[in-house]
Amino acid sequence: MKIKLHTQIFLGIVLGLFCGILLRENAVIFQPIGDVFIRLLRMVVIPIIFSSLVVGVLNLGNVQSLGRLGAKTFIYYLTTTLAAVFIGLMVVNVIHPGWEADLQVTSAILPENMQDKTLFLSDVLMNIVPENIFKAMVEGQTLGLIFFSIVFGCALLAIGKKAEAMAKMVESLNDVVLRITDWIMLLAPVGVFALMASLVGKIGLSAFKPLALYMATVIIALLIHALFTLSGILVFVGKYSPITFVKRIFPALATAFSTDSSIATLPVTMECLEKNVGVSKKITGFVAPLGATINMDGTALYEAVAVMFIAQVYGIDMTLTQQIIIALTATLASIGAAGIPSAGLITLVVVLKSVGLPLEGIGLLLAVDRILDMCRTTVNVMGDAVGALVVSRLEGERPLQMNKEKA
Ligand code: ASP
Repeated sequence: MKIKLHTQIFLGIVLGLFCGILLRENAVIFQPIGDVFIRLLRMVVIPIIFSSLVVGVLNLGNVQSLGRLGAKTFIYYLTTTLAAVFIGLMVVNVIHPGWEADLQVTSAILPENMQDKTLFLSDVLMNIVPENIFKAMVEGQTLGLIFFSIVFGCALLAIGKKAEAMAKMVESLNDVVLRITDWIMLLAPVGVFALMASLVGKIGLSAFKPLALYMATVIIALLIHALFTLSGILVFVGKYSPITFVKRIFPALATAFSTDSSIATLPVTMECLEKNVGVSKKITGFVAPLGATINMDGTALYEAVAVMFIAQVYGIDMTLTQQIIIALTATLASIGAAGIPSAGLITLVVVLKSVGLPLEGIGLLLAVDRILDMCRTTVNVMGDAVGALVVSRLEGERPLQMNKEKA
């Protein structure tokens, strides 16, 4: 009997966990296999973003539909991210993990790229327009690439018949990269196994003790967001069973969990949305790449909790106004964070600065960031996937029936 892919991936995670616990440091021998899996995913990200967005815009047929889709997508992103931050603040105010933490708050050495950061709304805006599209591709500046791809698609639409050859070429490029993604997905069970085993082997499970309550706070808040906000939206707006949905996007969730990167997970997310959930190409092509780049519910929530935790450890009270500032800057910082490992930790600097907290506080969080990154990235990807389904519903699409079994 053939075991379904999502079951295989689940087994990969569980086996990886056990293997890491049993083999301890020796489990790092699996690291190269995990790294190859991540590299394979990253290998197809740029062509997937470009070709899917262009094909998406072409399928939309006109620029007005693009505007309508964009408006719905942004409203979804903003409301869910704010809801996530709000949940994070509520939970951290109830649990107060920083009051109990027994931590040294003396200076910590921060990586150079964290030393200083000012509010970068203008940076984000500037990043949207790449000065060199090839540089944007090479450096993985997804926001710039997204912008270029949309403009490219619109130009193809405007030219019409004369640009048919180019449109066909991009469509066929899209088919090719999706086929490569199919093949990479077959390796996912082994990839997630290797990543989990080497991670658990490397960090062990004992390093977390002093930060256990803080970790629990972040995880509880992430769960509340996934189980109530996102699942609620699935039920009431998406008219979709959350359990069926999670089953169908499980390969993407597991990949997010083990790679810490929404962008590396993007090919899998798109594959699951199109093939398993039945969201059209035009909506997946638009909503998923944009989501992986700017929609990060988990990161925003995490940043709000982390900043409050640091304030609590330092014994500094945060007023309501300061908490509102935290909510707004955490939302902005999550938009600015790239969909790569630890990006949220770096943009945390902005949030700390907005309320005048010491940047050294970040040093307290480094030990457990990897684990929390795995959890928040999973929620980020779930948020992107729910967004695609919701927009597809709002556009009058009928994704696959609940009862139709899929792999
Ligand atoms: N790793 C996260 C992501 O790729 C970003 C973060 O560090 O919060 O979605």
